Amino acid sequence: MSNQPSILAGSIEYLKGVGPTKGNMLKKELGIFTFNDLLMHFPFRYVDKTQFHRIKDLGPDSDNVQLRGILRRINVMGEGRKRRMVGSFRDETGVIELVWFKGIHWLEKNLNIGGEYIVFGKVNFFRNQLNIPHPEIEDVSAANAKKAATFAPVYPSTDKLNAKGLDAKGQRKLVAALFNKITPSDIKENLPTYIIQKFKFLGRYDAFRSIHFPQNQQELNAARNRLKFEELFFLQLRLLQIKRRRKDSIKGFAFPKIANYFNRFFNEKLPFELTGAQKRVLKEIRKDLGSGIQMNRLLQGDVGSGKTIVGLMAMLMAMDNDFQACLMAPTEILAQQHFISISEYVDGLGINVGFLSGSVKGKKRKLLLEQLKEGDIHLLIGTHALIEDPVEFKNLALAITDEQHRFGVAQRAKLWAKSKPYPPHILVMTATPIPRTLSMTLYGDLDVSVIDELPPGRKEIKTLHKTENHRMRVMGFMREEIAKGRQVYVVYPLIEESETLDLQNLEEGHESLSREFPISDYQISVVHGRMKPKDKDFEMQRFVKGETQIMIATTVIEVGVNVPNASVMVIENTERFGLSQLHQLRGRVGRGAEQSFCILMSSFKLSTEAKERIATMVRTNNGFEIAEADLKLRGPGNMEGTQQSGILNFRIADLAKDGRILQTAREVAARILDDDPNFLRPEHASIKYYFDHHGKKLKGWSLIS
Ligand code: ADP
Ligand code: MG
Repeated sequence: MSNQPSILAGSIEYLKGVGPTKGNMLKKELGIFTFNDLLMHFPFRYVDKTQFHRIKDLGPDSDNVQLRGILRRINVMGEGRKRRMVGSFRDETGVIELVWFKGIHWLEKNLNIGGEYIVFGKVNFFRNQLNIPHPEIEDVSAANAKKAATFAPVYPSTDKLNAKGLDAKGQRKLVAALFNKITPSDIKENLPTYIIQKFKFLGRYDAFRSIHFPQNQQELNAARNRLKFEELFFLQLRLLQIKRRRKDSIKGFAFPKIANYFNRFFNEKLPFELTGAQKRVLKEIRKDLGSGIQMNRLLQGDVGSGKTIVGLMAMLMAMDNDFQACLMAPTEILAQQHFISISEYVDGLGINVGFLSGSVKGKKRKLLLEQLKEGDIHLLIGTHALIEDPVEFKNLALAITDEQHRFGVAQRAKLWAKSKPYPPHILVMTATPIPRTLSMTLYGDLDVSVIDELPPGRKEIKTLHKTENHRMRVMGFMREEIAKGRQVYVVYPLIEESETLDLQNLEEGHESLSREFPISDYQISVVHGRMKPKDKDFEMQRFVKGETQIMIATTVIEVGVNVPNASVMVIENTERFGLSQLHQLRGRVGRGAEQSFCILMSSFKLSTEAKERIATMVRTNNGFEIAEADLKLRGPGNMEGTQQSGILNFRIADLAKDGRILQTAREVAARILDDDPNFLRPEHASIKYYFDHHGKKLKGWSLIS
């Protein structure tokens, strides 16, 4: 292979028709610096004039369509800004209205009633009727004479670009100039021939050519398919390679024994039968912990699926082998709940459980840190305070985080520094179910366990959507439930940008609830993010102990809080919450034996998306189904936990739609790594070349710990 730099590395201003001025514009506005950047600058849509649609096939979901038929009549109607011309257009299958608001005079003069026309435009659905506003309309004979480009790419543009002649058409010209300049050998194939043949993929050059200039829809589909596969394949190859390398090289503490702590807990303490999913996940964890290789496992399970007990049993395995373990939670409240429930679980087993957070100070803290260092504390529970600097363990071998996504790089370094000679095993527990496609990508380098089964006997939470005019009835319902001895959450949204207003909302809600539920008969707790942790905690504990019947809160209660006696969750301004947040909130009820309810309050008028979110919540309790709906509604980059992740910035693949391609890409990548991990076989030379040059760009990614 030559070491000549590829022509594609050339700076964009040297492309014919560009020059310094347009070159700067392309760089600034579109981030196109090189020929290669232009090659990768894919059209965001296409104008397809290769086929004709039939009017009877059109529906509210139709996009741009081309029709051929007869203009039957035109009527000008309305006054002033509503003045419009409506044409009635017919083909053999039906009739549709064409509507113009501008250029009416000219059109009226030039259009021929009874003439045959070709019409192109976007179908609009208005008052239950289809029409096409401002269509292009052309005499059939004139259109035939032109033989214009029939499947034209449309590139994203801006006013600035348009002003410099770089509108969609101008950009089209540049891409054409690029393809005049390069040859197939400039776009090196990066997939093995046998893969291309097996999946009938387009070659790489053809795929790039066709994504820019397809002749028709099929060719475009083929190009997309190939380029999506390529994008997902190389990412999966990298993720799986990272995972393998870690397993080859990062040693961990081996836990050979299952002994007294675990067995006594299992036989004497465990108050229920584990679910099948819990058992399966425990086996997966057991296998990791026995292997002598550092575990990096993500444990996904819906709210209430019973992750805590699994985490605890993993920690018992550590103690059986004379190691320490720790459990971290994102909030003080949650950490304390874990501390209390785990202390109860292991009571009488001779395990010393410690608690550490920012609020543990002075002598108490000093003593705790000493005990920890001496190994007198076996199991430490707390907030992230426990990976801070002065905290030293005797022999930490397992660290669990609850309701957290990955560790940051800095946190990871701190954690690793606490444990010698190996890094601790890591288990990350999250109740944010994410769709498989996302999980394979975001966590593609990790081992993932899923608890996909709820403990038996849970009653489905009943979810209802109510608006302001039902408020009195909702209050009445709360009163009934409280009379039965239950407790109620009322949750308000709180976001930073409108914090003051949101708090005001909450206060007003508090006032009106106080009127309905007077202090002579009811106790109300209020918890929000502006309160001091101590006060928050005090209020929270009153509710946990059943001293108060109503808990008014902002989303601080979202994570992990466990009050089995609470059976009603009222969510205010539901339309302002995201789906996964709503699901998390709802998971706070339905934890006891009683029938639970989630009441989604919203205003009457809702956006389509908000309606869809609420409908999804009413329809299902299944977290994975909700996550799929969320992915479809919002796209992968906007889902919880994915925001900072550059890994989801795909050029062409779409995780909401390309699940099958992703699955295939991952399988193919895994097989190649099994057979030929270093791509040394001749048939893998194309992979090796591409991978060495482009495939390793996943910096800072990998390892949850
Ligand atoms: P999450 O996965 O949301 O963290 P938890 O671990 O808090 O769920 O468990 C929720 C509740 O279910 C707890 O009260 C726990 O004791 C109970 N639980 C867990 N596993 C089982 C089981 N196998 N059978 C019955 N109840 C269970
Ligand atoms: Mg939990």
